[in-house]
Amino acid sequence: MIWDKDADAAVKKAPFFVRKKVRKRVETFVREKGRDRVTLSDVKALKKKFLSKGGMENEIKGHDVSACFGGDGCPNSVALSSKQLVKDIETVMASAGILSFLKSEVTGDLKFHHEFRVSISDCPNACSRPQITDIGIIAAALPEITAEDCVHCEACVDICPEQAVTLERSGPIVDFKLCLACGKCMKGCPTGTLDTQETGYRALLGGRLGRHPRLGMEIPGILSHEGVLDLVRRCLDFYKAHSKGGKRFSHVLESLDQI
Ligand code: SF4
Ligand code: SF4
Ligand code: SF4
Repeated sequence: MIWDKDADAAVKKAPFFVRKKVRKRVETFVREKGRDRVTLSDVKALKKKFLSKGGMENEIKGHDVSACFGGDGCPNSVALSSKQLVKDIETVMASAGILSFLKSEVTGDLKFHHEFRVSISDCPNACSRPQITDIGIIAAALPEITAEDCVHCEACVDICPEQAVTLERSGPIVDFKLCLACGKCMKGCPTGTLDTQETGYRALLGGRLGRHPRLGMEIPGILSHEGVLDLVRRCLDFYKAHSKGGKRFSHVLESLDQI
């Protein structure tokens, strides 16, 4: 799909948390008209539709799963690609009935900020902002020190963005309190002295923006693909059991002293 410059600029004015969705929606709108070029008139026409009575509500599906572009070849991407995880989380969320739950709880029109959001990043750079969503997922690869001889090349020390690796006569030492499991030191080690102990995902719960923002709280450990899906299911059950009047997940967790 080709975008005219002014159309592209107009979409960039939308709040960041709906920008991707608006972009996708505009492209669908244009495709439905049998065209492959987005003009400013298309953006304006859709905006008018959104702002008409009930227009926004028709676009809301109750949940949202977003991801960074790590799976499309970003060099920082930790060993895993989250594309399948995104699809599987989408399936779990779609079957959880969040939209009908919200419709039964919220008085007045549903808004995008009512949606339950999951955001996935393929490395700790966190481009998809998992820290400020209901559930944030960050791909992780944890290092381990093997019995392979270290040649003291210092590549691991130089490459670690967290200064978590130090070198001693016996070889490398990793400070796991500093390590963000980005996987860089293992990729850079020529001897295999630093290798991958475990791959999976870190998870943060209860992040939000708005008038009283807060960062999601990280739960301990590294989750497998199935572990993430199980976490999402349990969070959705908890949310539906305790949220009243469309209260956000983070507020529910706070009110019950869970974060
Ligand atoms: S979060 Fe990491 S992997 Fe994803 S796009 Fe950003 S830098 Fe690349
Ligand atoms: S995994 Fe990343 S943060 Fe952890 S020690 Fe290696 S380079 Fe540093
Ligand atoms: S990169 Fe590997 S070989 Fe080089 S200093 Fe670190 S652990 Fe040793």
